Amino acid sequence: MTAKTTDHATLLQSTQLVISQALHRLGFGDDMTDLLREPLRTLTVRIPVRMDNGKVKVFTGYRAQHNDAVGPTKGGVRFHPDVSEEEVKALSIWMSLKCGIADLPYGGGKGGVICDPRKMSFGELERLSRGYVRAISQFVGPTKDIPAPDVMTNSQIMAWMVDEYSRIREFDSPGFITGKPLVLGGSHGRETATAQGVVMMIYEALKVKSIPLKDARVIVQGFGNAGSYLAKFMYEAGAKVVGISDVNGALYDPNGLDIPDLLDRRDSFGTVTTMFKNTIPNEDLLIQPCDILVPAAIENQITEDNAGQIQAQIIVEAANGPTTIEATRIVTERGILLVPDVLASAGGVIVSYFEWVQNNQGYYWSEEEVMQKLQTLMTRGFHKVFELHQLKQVDMRLAAYMVGVRKMAEASRYRGWV
Ligand code: NAD
Repeated sequence: MTAKTTDHATLLQSTQLVISQALHRLGFGDDMTDLLREPLRTLTVRIPVRMDNGKVKVFTGYRAQHNDAVGPTKGGVRFHPDVSEEEVKALSIWMSLKCGIADLPYGGGKGGVICDPRKMSFGELERLSRGYVRAISQFVGPTKDIPAPDVMTNSQIMAWMVDEYSRIREFDSPGFITGKPLVLGGSHGRETATAQGVVMMIYEALKVKSIPLKDARVIVQGFGNAGSYLAKFMYEAGAKVVGISDVNGALYDPNGLDIPDLLDRRDSFGTVTTMFKNTIPNEDLLIQPCDILVPAAIENQITEDNAGQIQAQIIVEAANGPTTIEATRIVTERGILLVPDVLASAGGVIVSYFEWVQNNQGYYWSEEEVMQKLQTLMTRGFHKVFELHQLKQVDMRLAAYMVGVRKMAEASRYRGWV
């Protein structure tokens, strides 16, 4: 077992632990925990792909469907060398929680393929994307399980996937996948939806903490799809983005960074710090002075080792799983307001839902309409979680899990599954 697989096993276990705590606090029995602690279905597939050198390479992929009591399952597909079955399972549970908090008519799903897109040609990526869809085509569909982009997959990959699925089914099926290019039935606002949703959560958290937005100091860990848009939006809104990082290092300037300039220099994998000499180590960025810390990179970044040193008053988790359970306890005790991943990063799945609704009705909304609807669902989710956190005196993560799990537990019970 590799170190990454072990991390993912831990990630799954801690998710299961919070799920069981949430169900217990809501008054459900062990049978419900038993049902919801694992996905209902997990499929492993092997995908043969003809590489540019003429040889065939066989990739391993997964698709997990956590719970479909509320409706079809929904969730992204990631292409990454560290993908594992445990990770896909944990992420599918998180998707269920996000859908529950936002009150979407979905359960959670997730997919992934073990590969390194940075080392593959455009043609190889297309053949892999199509091969993955052929492998899972019986398992997914517009009323069954709807994929979307995730780490290192994008709208071009969604375009190949929807084309492959439509060919297999022999009719146009835009509702099979979300995150498509606009011309193929994508939605306005989808590309920036996660970051927009995080910004909306930052605004709500600032109100709770009575901190003015103007010149509020923000640190963003990760400068990829989520992190770079977020830094841009916060910069444009008048906040001071004092720190950013990518996989190679971090930049920190208490006077504020020139975000538009950094965006111009960034490559398509979210790397920019290699162009600077005055970088600091990634770990050091998280403990620099700021008002708002936004982890927007990878899992397990705020742990019991650094939680006591964090200087932010607010942590908003754009990434999935950046804070461990122990670190959640430490920062909560220190009075830091933590907006957990399953709430803060739900913007992507919410606008994916809007894309699917528009595909189903064949009528498309303007960007303003999409953003207004996103705002309604995100802020409603925030207040449900924040109020429960105060009412039940539980941390924000447990409150979010309680809000997120309730609907699917009740739907499972109505269906007679438990
Ligand atoms: P991405 O691959 O576009 O970007 C990731 C960024 O993190 C890159 O800048 C990379 O260099 C950086 N990074 C990697 N390791 C790092 C480290 N150790 N320290 C600092 N930076 C590091 O990915 P993304 O789509 O922006 O997703 C980021 C996180 O947000 C993931 O956890 C993802 O699951 C979550 N998320 C993304 C979306 C979305 O719509 N993009 C939606 C929900 C959740």
